[in-house]
Amino acid sequence: AKQAGRNTLFYFNETLQPMLEARASLEADLRHALSADQLQPYYQIQVDAQRRPLGAELLLRWLHPVRGWVSPGEFIPIAEESNLICELGDWVLNAACAQIRAWQDSAGARALRLSVNISARQFEHDDFVDQVARLLSLHACQPRLLRLELTEGLMLKKSPEVIEKLVRLKAMGLSLSIDDFGTGYSSLAVLKHFPLDELKIDRGFVSDLPGNADDAILIKTIVAMGQNLGLEVIAEGVETQAQFDFLRQSGCYAYQGYWLGRPMAVEAFDRELEGFYEA
Ligand code: C2E
Ligand code: CA
Ligand code: CA
Ligand code: CA
Repeated sequence: AKQAGRNTLFYFNETLQPMLEARASLEADLRHALSADQLQPYYQIQVDAQRRPLGAELLLRWLHPVRGWVSPGEFIPIAEESNLICELGDWVLNAACAQIRAWQDSAGARALRLSVNISARQFEHDDFVDQVARLLSLHACQPRLLRLELTEGLMLKKSPEVIEKLVRLKAMGLSLSIDDFGTGYSSLAVLKHFPLDELKIDRGFVSDLPGNADDAILIKTIVAMGQNLGLEVIAEGVETQAQFDFLRQSGCYAYQGYWLGRPMAVEAFDRELEGFYEA
């Protein structure tokens, strides 16, 4: 058995090597992308049950000079393995605050709230809360227009340090969302301990609606419990009218997904937004 184990290890080493090299080069390219203007924020609309705009989520896009578009699902995990995620996160937060300011100036009271994805490692950085405060004030944007999307993994730690940071962020006037809810190991009982505003149901629970009876029950349960905890419940990955209708009947507060709008660059997003207000 030991011999077989060794052989297996050898085999993996041989196939792993090119993968590791590809990864290393992507990391180097990403480092360069930050300064070379290859990253672009995209925006995806979030609406209420009457399909009125509530906000948007910023989703990062990378146009690699050779590979073309690289998905954040591919490069965020690579960035997360080093401090690169902090630089990347700063870049995103800066772009977000600049955009909030632009919407604030052009739309006044109708200005959209913007949700930004925050990596655990970025959040855990000692400087994180100060950095958010600095960027909000640098761009003179209203803190209530910024929402941070955090993941369950972070909440799981439930350490005094995490809670203290969340409390400081809330005190600054911004709002907090828990992303991909249901995919991690936390529970609504755990969520009670955090000063959250929003619970975002992962699109894995939405994709088989309304036909899948298990998912239908899960959705109804999550929405009801979220409501009881005083959280705004948002569903992501809404791709069909049938999904939208089911979620609405379940009492979901907000909706995001291709059926409502694709992620897009700001010029296209602003044009589409006009249509939402006119509808
Ligand atoms: P996420 O936060 O769960 O974002 C939702 C993902 O679902 C996005 O993928 C979005 O484009 C996609 N999506 C939206 N509506 C639909 C739909 O109706 N159907 C389907 N099938 N998909 C939909 P995207 O843009 O590829 O981002 C992937 C992940 O990368 C995000 O998942 C997020 O975890 C991460 N990410 C993206 N931008 C950032 C960022 O600026 N910072 C950090 N830390 N992570 C980011
Ligand atoms: Ca998200
Ligand atoms: Ca999500
Ligand atoms: Ca997700």
